[in-house]
Amino acid sequence: MSESPQPYRVLARKYRPQRFADLIGQDAMVQTLANAIRRERLAHAFLLTGVRGVGKTSTARLIAKALNCIGPDGQGGPTIDPCGVCEPCRAIAEGRHIDVIEIDAASHNGVDDVREISEAVRYAAVSARYKIYIIDEVHMLSKAAFNAVLKTLEEPPAHVKFLLATTEVQKIPVTVLSRCQRFDLKRIPAEALARHFAHVVEAEKVEAEPEALALIARAAEGSARDGLSILDQAIAHSGTSGEGALVTAAQVRDMLGLSDRGAVRRLFGLLLAGDAPGVLAAVRDQYDLGVEPATLFVGLLEAVHGVTRAKAGGGQDPALSMEEREAHAEWAARLGFATLHRLWQLLLKGHAEVQAAALPIEAAEMALLRVVHASTLPDPGELARRLANGETVPAAAAQASGGPAPAETQPALKAAPHPAPEPPARPAPPASFGALVELVNGQRPLLGQQLHDFVGLVRYDPPELALRPNRPLPADFIRDLTTLLRNLFAEPWKVEISDGPAEPSLLDQQKSAENAARDAILATPVVRAAFEAFADAEYEGYTPPETAAEARSA
Ligand SMILES: [Zn+2]
Repeated sequence: MSESPQPYRVLARKYRPQRFADLIGQDAMVQTLANAIRRERLAHAFLLTGVRGVGKTSTARLIAKALNCIGPDGQGGPTIDPCGVCEPCRAIAEGRHIDVIEIDAASHNGVDDVREISEAVRYAAVSARYKIYIIDEVHMLSKAAFNAVLKTLEEPPAHVKFLLATTEVQKIPVTVLSRCQRFDLKRIPAEALARHFAHVVEAEKVEAEPEALALIARAAEGSARDGLSILDQAIAHSGTSGEGALVTAAQVRDMLGLSDRGAVRRLFGLLLAGDAPGVLAAVRDQYDLGVEPATLFVGLLEAVHGVTRAKAGGGQDPALSMEEREAHAEWAARLGFATLHRLWQLLLKGHAEVQAAALPIEAAEMALLRVVHASTLPDPGELARRLANGETVPAAAAQASGGPAPAETQPALKAAPHPAPEPPARPAPPASFGALVELVNGQRPLLGQQLHDFVGLVRYDPPELALRPNRPLPADFIRDLTTLLRNLFAEPWKVEISDGPAEPSLLDQQKSAENAARDAILATPVVRAAFEAFADAEYEGYTPPETAAEARSA
């Protein structure tokens, strides 16, 4: 390998936009700014908002250049197209212009720093047209510091401009907001980022598969800086560094599986799918990367909160990425409020345990496994109803009680999304035969009644169904049912008559359950297990099967 002529610069710094044309996905803002410059109607203060890495400070520096550029001949005025070669342009790009002062409010939030500003603005710019203050993360200024800025903004000297940048605009006092021209920088669309990365790898003389760049763009979630950091990593991981490196999609996928912001979402999906080995592996991966177990729980709690908000129609947090919104909407459609509230409680309890634990990673694994096992249980009310109907109960419930798992089990959360949720191409079949019968009943009551009363279930394995009639069925029964199921679920179903061992018909199950008394139900290990699994459960009463049947047929 040859020695590189220059010290390595990270891509995010090297490809920082130097002209407005280099800014990706901010056309509307650039247009407004160009108009303001052309009409010489520039505000004294600008507020740049947007998520991290979207280009706020880069934009602030570009505005500083636009205001102070004197052109290659030294005669130019403010321009939307700064020349980049005059002394002010170069000094600003290198961060050494004496009249362009950058303050990071995250580290300088005291009133003293701001008092310096209010005193300094009394003197005209030393060498440039405008004295420009760039205050990054301005929302972190103290109240006193804000007041000092405000005083300056109330009577700004003509030669001073303020460029304020923030990720949290709701924390800016309205008195400051009202004195700023505001530019909201948009998250950069993934396609635009991918195109940008393609230019970068070309300039770096690195080969990259288009799919690899698309994956990186997606993981960047709207941030050019984050995306370039991931690209940096990908090039470093590609074996050959610098020229001649090849970034493949497989390798990026491998890398992102460990480090992208979707890791928590994938963990959430694994939890809901009841994938215990997957959950354990994902937690270990994150832990090995240095993610604190308590942080994982906070991420999961945020996910539950986001999904519940989406389900309640409470609107979504604007800071969420498109990927997060899609995932939340998807889960909101599939999960009930009861399940979401249960998840919240279990995770909150887990978070407290992890924080208090001497062995946080072990505590995290135990708490998440508890969620996995609880999420394969129906809620207590549903469990009691099923039991009353003589239905089988999930293996997890039986195992929790120490008893053997029933031969046939129906995962209650069968419809839960898998790690990478995609909109279902067709409606998912119900998790249980009982639910299927209710669905059929809603469409074709006569057919539903025949299914409920006249057949026993041999096998329910959508899209296959095996039934054993306990009395003669109408000649068209199988054909009608097959047609209805195909229409309901947009796929062909196989319905067959079998003489294999069958459950009693739903009607018979209902009848035999009529004799079940409340005490018998409460005494069963399954119900006791349910009460152990849900510490907050309360017994609200016993609904006799007749009433339940009436409620269903009503
Ligand atoms: Zn210039």
